[in-house]
Amino acid sequence: MVVTRFAPSPTGYLHIGGLRTALLSYLWARRNGGKFVLRIEDTDKSRNSEAAAEAIVEAFKWVGLEHDGDIVYQSQRDEIYAKYIKQLLDEGKAYKCYMSKDELTELRETQMANKERTRYDGRYRDFDGTPPEGIEPVIRIKAPLCGEIVIDDGIKGRVSFQAEDILDDFIIARGDGSPTYNFVVAVDDALMGINEVIRGDDHLSNTPKQMVVYEALGFELPKFYHVPMIHNASGKKLSKRDGATDVMAYKEMGYLPEALLNFLVRLGWSNGDQEIFSMDEMMELFDPSNINKSASIYNVDKLDWLNGHYIKNSSNAKLAALLKEYGVDVEGHDKKEFLLDALKERAKNMKELAEMIPTILNAPESYDEKAVKKAFKGDAIEVLKAFVAKLESTTELHLPSDFHAAMEALVAEMEIGFGKIGMPLRVALLGAMGGPGMDSVMAVLGKDETIKRINHAVDVLS
Ligand code: GLU
Repeated sequence: MVVTRFAPSPTGYLHIGGLRTALLSYLWARRNGGKFVLRIEDTDKSRNSEAAAEAIVEAFKWVGLEHDGDIVYQSQRDEIYAKYIKQLLDEGKAYKCYMSKDELTELRETQMANKERTRYDGRYRDFDGTPPEGIEPVIRIKAPLCGEIVIDDGIKGRVSFQAEDILDDFIIARGDGSPTYNFVVAVDDALMGINEVIRGDDHLSNTPKQMVVYEALGFELPKFYHVPMIHNASGKKLSKRDGATDVMAYKEMGYLPEALLNFLVRLGWSNGDQEIFSMDEMMELFDPSNINKSASIYNVDKLDWLNGHYIKNSSNAKLAALLKEYGVDVEGHDKKEFLLDALKERAKNMKELAEMIPTILNAPESYDEKAVKKAFKGDAIEVLKAFVAKLESTTELHLPSDFHAAMEALVAEMEIGFGKIGMPLRVALLGAMGGPGMDSVMAVLGKDETIKRINHAVDVLS
């Protein structure tokens, strides 16, 4: 069974790049009928906070990625790590190192002066003397000091490192006994049965160290997939300046989670030229070994396009419910169907949709000067008056098509073009140019309100 995981460190919020690797891990587990687990890597008490862990869980809920089983918090697993550290010490695969800070600094400085790689020199590796006093030893693992370490990466292929270039006997527990990052990641991945690790390639350099831990503890290695980073248009790692990096900011900006997930799955992965993927399709088609080897480019226009697509294809009931989160309640409006039908075609995001609604439901407080100049040339006032008469004499006026028929009848009778009524009508009803089709607007307002707004404009503008 495929077991994948997402293992964020709660240092702030759920990063968009993190959500992407979470999604890929989730899809791969689901495609294989496997498990996807969530582990919060909160051992670094100085950088992690509970609020940040909660923010990550909240973002997960928003996008709807369901993890299997309970969330695992590394901060609650000290005993487990201590047990494995002891085991390594007992087996002679790890040892206590009593080097003082000063000694460590001195070693570094000498190595730098000699233009050598700074590394621990193994001075306590085989130490059996009397330890110096007053030093809480760190625990170091015995790492291979030469030879090749090879990752058979599912995306990058064979990646090899020379042990002497990257490893030394690195610390697995600090002086206060707290375990270090690479140690706990490896222990947890192994104990949680994670057999496919899909994560950002910024972690590639950690992998050899984690492999040393696996080896020392006799755990079976998972399959690794190191996913290339998301870049901006100029080829640099995505930063806040290029677009929001906090997943919840996307919610605030009015993106739907399905659009965001669709956007993310396409970063560096494709299925022919398909752009739209439902969750079911993603789960059916996604395969991490087809991820591009090179970085993917963040393109917000694509995200906007996808978001527009998903808004347009959402039911009105769903949109009405979502709109409440953006400060607009249309649930009780008897014409909400017409309203949302008309607007969802045009909105790029939920915020925009929410902003459009009052511009229709509230009568204009003033009329845009430029629009008036353009629309109220010639006999616009007469045309509007004639239209009011037409509406008053029409009994069946409910659907957008009823209002459309009334407009058609008017232009035929007056022998004028559609623009002659369309433009002044738009200004009369909405106060400005732009916005959805007049038929829908009138259907939303209803006959009485439509007539009232036109009469008011006629009064003010004639
Ligand atoms: N906790 C790490 C991070 O947030 C991820 C660890 C991993 O995926 O192996 O960057």
